[in-house]
Amino acid sequence: MSGGVKWEQRWHPLREEWVIVAAHRQDRPWHGETLSSSARVQPALPEYVEDCYLCPGNTRVSGKRNENYSGIFVFDNDHPCVGPNAPKELQPPAGLYRNRPAEGLARVLCYSPRHNVTLAELELAEIESLLVAWRDQYAELGARPEVRHVLIFENKGEVVGVSNPHPHCQIYATNFVFKTIENEAATTRRYYEETGHVLFQDILQAEREDGRRVIFENASAIVFMPYFARYAYECYVAPKATHPGLSGLSVEELRDLAEALKMMVVRYDNLWRMPFPYVMTLHHAPTDGADHSTFHFHIEFHPPLRKRDLLKYLAGPEIGGGNFLSDTLPEDKAQELKALSGVHYKKDSDQ
Ligand SMILES: [Zn+2]
Ligand SMILES: [Zn+2]
Repeated sequence: MSGGVKWEQRWHPLREEWVIVAAHRQDRPWHGETLSSSARVQPALPEYVEDCYLCPGNTRVSGKRNENYSGIFVFDNDHPCVGPNAPKELQPPAGLYRNRPAEGLARVLCYSPRHNVTLAELELAEIESLLVAWRDQYAELGARPEVRHVLIFENKGEVVGVSNPHPHCQIYATNFVFKTIENEAATTRRYYEETGHVLFQDILQAEREDGRRVIFENASAIVFMPYFARYAYECYVAPKATHPGLSGLSVEELRDLAEALKMMVVRYDNLWRMPFPYVMTLHHAPTDGADHSTFHFHIEFHPPLRKRDLLKYLAGPEIGGGNFLSDTLPEDKAQELKALSGVHYKKDSDQ
């Protein structure tokens, strides 16, 4: 056991809240439901599926046909949560309540024409192209006058509600800034005013000083499990230099970041030799016209599993109270991930 203490509270500087680390409870008896093996063991999938709405050349529910794409493919979501067609004439609510049209644009971005690969199985060059596509989407959508933020995220796995395994992410260009990002932007700005430091740089410095939670590092990018992780396998992937978004990265920085991202997702899949479920979110600065020069772009992974067959349930402390209770110690979990191979298990077994 590293350090000895398994029971303490840790300050989350980006959210400005406490996380209760109570890892001494991790092996408490569990009488509830565990995930069935069908949720974990996936049958071998074909490269192309006739009724998949994301495969090349297929017709979607809207009647539109996908291009016969060979790399990355982006289209406007057929079931958008925000969009130009959202109702403009709304009923005014009572009293202090407010409403407004759900303006913005929602898109879907396919990583690959191949139905049966995941982000972790893409080649490094394909991940580089993906970073470029994300960068361009953020720039294009963020430039629209009604858009104040562009949220790019991937939900992966049935346990986070994704039924179609075709590798893809979603893009929500919204007329408001999502709460987590709004908080991070405000925290970062205040920290800079108070200390003259970039908050994320101080986080990186503390992580490197300690070293136990750094999972991978190259010249300009880093992967770590933060000291204040709320989920058992929560990790951040980031460039070492501060850029508010992907647009600021040089070609070399993009390549290093692609490698770091690959090293992370490959380890996730290798952990239990299965496609590892997660919510991956790109934390880009808002595009609301304010100065976000001290906002440090990074990618956050929030995996819902705390054991191979056990979900982290959000309950009283998290949903009711709003703070997280973690049953695991980040130092232990980071070591677990660090010890894994950087070669994907499917490629490993080919040899
Ligand atoms: Zn498909
Ligand atoms: Zn963040």
